[in-house]
Amino acid sequence: MAEHRQLVILGGGPAGLTAGLYASRAKLDCVMLEKGMPGGQVMVTDWIDNYPGFPEGLSGFDLCEKMTAQAKRFGLEIRSGVEVTGVDLESEPRKLILAAGGEISCDSLIIATGARPNTLGVPGEKELTGRGVSYCATCDGPFFRDQEIAVIGGGNTAVQEAVYLTKFAKKVNLIHRRDELRATRIVQEQAMANPGINIIWDTVVQEIKSDDSGVSGLVLENVKSGAKSELTLSGVFVLIGTIPNNEMLPDCIELVDGFINTDAEMRTNIPGVMAAGDIRNKEVRQVINGAGEGAVAEMAAEHYLSRRAK
Ligand SMILES: Cc1cc2nc3c(=O)[nH]c(=O)nc-3n(C[C@H](O)[C@H](O)[C@H](O)COP(=O)(O)OP(=O)(O)OC[C@H]3O[C@@H](n4cnc5c(N)ncnc54)[C@H](O)[C@@H]3O)c2cc1C
Repeated sequence: MAEHRQLVILGGGPAGLTAGLYASRAKLDCVMLEKGMPGGQVMVTDWIDNYPGFPEGLSGFDLCEKMTAQAKRFGLEIRSGVEVTGVDLESEPRKLILAAGGEISCDSLIIATGARPNTLGVPGEKELTGRGVSYCATCDGPFFRDQEIAVIGGGNTAVQEAVYLTKFAKKVNLIHRRDELRATRIVQEQAMANPGINIIWDTVVQEIKSDDSGVSGLVLENVKSGAKSELTLSGVFVLIGTIPNNEMLPDCIELVDGFINTDAEMRTNIPGVMAAGDIRNKEVRQVINGAGEGAVAEMAAEHYLSRRAK
């Protein structure tokens, strides 16, 4: 007989782990499915200084271990290395199709599959991530006090974050591949009026260079003239978009630009199906709100299950 659960949590990042903590404390018949190891993007985050309760900060790895241990203390069943390739939200009960074969059905589902930053794909980027290459200004800006840095991108996020980073960095080079920014006019005006920002137009990054302490500079190419140049700096913020991990989702779930639409209780347009964390359509993607949304999503699932049982 196919496996059936009251609640399935899809994804084991901060949102999924927090939902799992609440579900296991509530003694729901629940399983968490995670294609890698629990922790999500936090596993690849060098250091976290903005999660409350840890006054000295802690490594992303340590935070993942603590979140996982806390959920397991209450008996959460975590299945690592289990990828879900399809979700049937039109069937009753809902069904998840596993990459390794087989399926699990459930009365309620929390989707917490997260997102991933778009990358440049240039030499040096991967090796230097966490050593001067960052995808999150809010997370890593304060590490670049009085240094010269670059922001790559030209959309609202890149331009707004370039302005934010001038609070810390002594100079922010905003590098954009076109001759005009995509950001809204008001955001552009703020950047142009900021003396800490130097906009480099029509330019792409070809390579990120390093020395013993991490990022040391960029090799640039002007896309119009073909001229090459080098910039000496110690930090690069790549802010060229975020890709939702939505490949397994069916068309019937409501998305905005690929991210799941929910109400304030994390309910999607499908009854009994919640979403939490970076996969949601929202502005701020951080551990703290991902975890909070995981808790809210689990409580919405509990309410749904108890109403259903009546
Ligand atoms: C480099 C970097 C640094 C950051 N630094 C900070 C910081 O300092 N402070 C901060 O607050 N935030 C930081 N963030 C943001 C933070 O990591 C995210 O907001 C947070 O991890 C989102 O949690 P989540 O649970 O929604 O998703 P994720 O952490 O993305 O976790 C989603 C999980 O779902 C799993 N999954 C996806 N698809 C499937 C599938 N089909 N089957 C099974 N499992 C699946 C993934 O393997 C992953 O483990 C950083 C992000 C990055 C990229």
